[in-house]
Amino acid sequence: MANYYDILGVKKDATQDEIKSAYRKLVKQYHPDLHPGDANCAAKFKEVNEANEVLSDPQKRRQYDYEQEHPNMGGFNFGGDGGFGGFGDIFGDIFSQFTGGGATYSEQNKKGQDVTLEVELSFLDAAKGCTRDITYTRKEPCEKCKSTGAKNGTQYSTCQNCKGSGQVQYMSGGGIFRSISVKACPECSGTGKKIIEKCDACQGRGYNKKSTTVTLEIPAGADTNSYMKKRAYGDASTLGGEAGDLIVVFKVLPHKIFKRKNYDLYIELPISYKTAVLGAKVKIPTLEETIDFTIPEGTQSGKTFILRGKGIKTKRVVGDMYVTVTIEVPTRLSRGQRKNIEDFDESIDVKQYEKLKKFDVDMKSLYGTTYYKNEK
Ligand SMILES: [Zn+2]
Ligand SMILES: [Zn+2]
Repeated sequence: MANYYDILGVKKDATQDEIKSAYRKLVKQYHPDLHPGDANCAAKFKEVNEANEVLSDPQKRRQYDYEQEHPNMGGFNFGGDGGFGGFGDIFGDIFSQFTGGGATYSEQNKKGQDVTLEVELSFLDAAKGCTRDITYTRKEPCEKCKSTGAKNGTQYSTCQNCKGSGQVQYMSGGGIFRSISVKACPECSGTGKKIIEKCDACQGRGYNKKSTTVTLEIPAGADTNSYMKKRAYGDASTLGGEAGDLIVVFKVLPHKIFKRKNYDLYIELPISYKTAVLGAKVKIPTLEETIDFTIPEGTQSGKTFILRGKGIKTKRVVGDMYVTVTIEVPTRLSRGQRKNIEDFDESIDVKQYEKLKKFDVDMKSLYGTTYYKNEK
């Protein structure tokens, strides 16, 4: 599907006002009432609505932007465990209201509230994957009244305002935008029931707050602000619908050695002057173990080596590791050490320094003054 920003013809950093006005213009242009029987227009109209539904809601827009920037996270769909999903699922829910697939509008309204938790992961747990028991509080159905909120589950009558349907219809808008919308009955909050005597176990609420524990299998690659969704592990519905979802948003803590960007790892490796000059075999850390690595002779400060496939491994992606060396200059030298350095430097010819030599020549052509002799 085309990018939502392209569909609405706005820039990626468009303001909410720009999105709104672009949407209004396109909706008028493609409205099916103005093009009866034109399938292309109908498809375009649907597309425009989908794009607007996401971009006009700052939270959905952020999720969408994130998904666009991190296409791999779309794969955060943990096939083995049917209850888990990633961005794909959440967008699936949004789209179902337009396509008619899945839940109807009123079923959506009957759903319980989602419960969102933030969970901290150590850098290594996030990078390698882990199993985590998460304890949280959610609304669970009151068994004593079977979620009706009425004593014994029987002490209620039918709501007269909505005749027990729990829904009322509203007309809104005008012209081609006139529409009928269905809302929860304000008299009974959508239950269709009028409580005569309250259940004493839940004080008429129909639910009780309880602590529960869920075990999450968190695959390798979770990053800060990525999340997992466990369907129907949120708050119970008091309207006979499905429970809401549990949404676990991750916060990944920093590590002393590793940094990461998506699935690539970065480390800064200090090396001694001798290693930089003569080269050496060293051991460097990866996620799973240390590996042997050869620093070649004549390695310059700031040089980055790429170790393919030594980053974070997910089911679909294998990241790389970037090793950037910094040459550490020794401090607090003894008199003898100073003498050795000076003797060594005396023995070096400018021809042995590539950058120094070039700088020397460039400065001479600019001011007639050499650089290297003064540097010495
Ligand atoms: Zn109860
Ligand atoms: Zn009612």
